[in-house]
Amino acid sequence: MSKFEVAVIGGGLAGMIAAVALARGGRTVAHVAPPSLKDDRRTTALMDQSIRFLDRLTLWEKLRPAAAPLTSMRIVDGTNRLLRAPTTTFRSAEVGLDAFGYNFPNKALMDVLEAAVAAEGNITRFTDMAETIGISKDSVTVTLTGGGEVAADFAIGADGRKSKLRETAGIDVRTWSYPQSAMVLNFTHTLPHQNISTEFHTEHGPFTQVPLPGNRSSLVWVQNPSDATARAELSLAELSNVVEERMQSILGKVEVEEGVQIWPLSGMMAHRFGKGRFALIGEAAHVFPPIGAQGLNLSLRDIMALTDLLCVHAELPIPADAGSSFDRKRRADIMTRTASVDLLNRSLLSDFLPVQVLRAAGLHVLSAIPPLRNIVMREGIEPGRGFRDIPDAIKERLKRKKA
Ligand SMILES: Cc1cc2nc3c(=O)[nH]c(=O)nc-3n(C[C@H](O)[C@H](O)[C@H](O)COP(=O)(O)OP(=O)(O)OC[C@H]3O[C@@H](n4cnc5c(N)ncnc54)[C@H](O)[C@@H]3O)c2cc1C
Repeated sequence: MSKFEVAVIGGGLAGMIAAVALARGGRTVAHVAPPSLKDDRRTTALMDQSIRFLDRLTLWEKLRPAAAPLTSMRIVDGTNRLLRAPTTTFRSAEVGLDAFGYNFPNKALMDVLEAAVAAEGNITRFTDMAETIGISKDSVTVTLTGGGEVAADFAIGADGRKSKLRETAGIDVRTWSYPQSAMVLNFTHTLPHQNISTEFHTEHGPFTQVPLPGNRSSLVWVQNPSDATARAELSLAELSNVVEERMQSILGKVEVEEGVQIWPLSGMMAHRFGKGRFALIGEAAHVFPPIGAQGLNLSLRDIMALTDLLCVHAELPIPADAGSSFDRKRRADIMTRTASVDLLNRSLLSDFLPVQVLRAAGLHVLSAIPPLRNIVMREGIEPGRGFRDIPDAIKERLKRKKA
């Protein structure tokens, strides 16, 4: 049986990045995952903190050609409700950044990550599924579907929402559903997007255009599942007209590309994120709707925490309680992000007038008070960053008031 320091189970974006990060941090890694599927048409917006992490892993330069910067984010109230919020624009220059983050096609991310895993001397790749997993106080053993066994000091479950590691460890989950699906598509347009992402809030969820390189954008359109199915059956020309009309033609003429996909939305949170000799990351630990580009950014913070715990002293054996330390370290961030995305989504769905008043008032306050907007923008990019800077933001406002 081969023996490693870490076994990473799962080869989605979270598993690939975890394997590379742990290996570059000095640990020997067994990466147990079937070859990735090549039909993911989604794009992923990664924020500044995640980009800096990818840069530290020397992946950023390879990813950059496929990515478009996000320099402004605009929220437009596209509802027909009585109380409508003002259009609010957040600009990265206001928080001293060239861009809030970058938007990548998932396929480009996967291609670069697969090459990085293959080239990494500290990673041994097993292209089977993990069939059974044994966790003891001294080690973890993984049997593979193709036969064979792998032993490790620590296991990372990046094996998605139906995680075998989570199930084996007996970790319960809380799940919930939303009456929504996300229609995902890419389109070309005749007017330049100027690196602005525009989110139209509708009664059924957000309709979010995110820039891609050139006169091209991706769209995540959260809507009622039956509407999504009906719209997916339209011809590309008909769907292009619908998308252009929804966007009030701000990007000119729209042409939707082949490969429209529908992703049903749901939520899930594990009761624990790690214990003893294992940790759960990515969608094995937390799932929520694609609103505000939070999912993989949160997973990258899981990986950053693991790198801190397992690689700062890579010359020492992995402590037997590293998984419990991980659980404590990640709890607040995961719970806060899950709750805020859920709240934002439900505030859009709710017809309850006081909720609409609060949502509209919140956006009014954000457009009118720059220091507050500043805090919200910084928190969106990296947790703790906005609140760390409160004194400066308040100082700045007082200075301007005096002048
Ligand atoms: C429409 C949509 C848009 C999104 N947009 C954004 C965005 O803009 N920004 C952002 O940050 N996030 C975004 N997200 C979230 C992001 O895409 C996910 O967080 C991310 O893809 C999840 O990756 P994962 O690796 O955790 O899980 P998965 O992609 O589900 O990967 C799990 C992997 O584990 C493997 N596996 C399962 N069981 C086993 C086993 N027994 N043994 C070995 N391998 C196993 C599977 O084959 C799979 O490859 C979006 C999500 C959706 C649905």
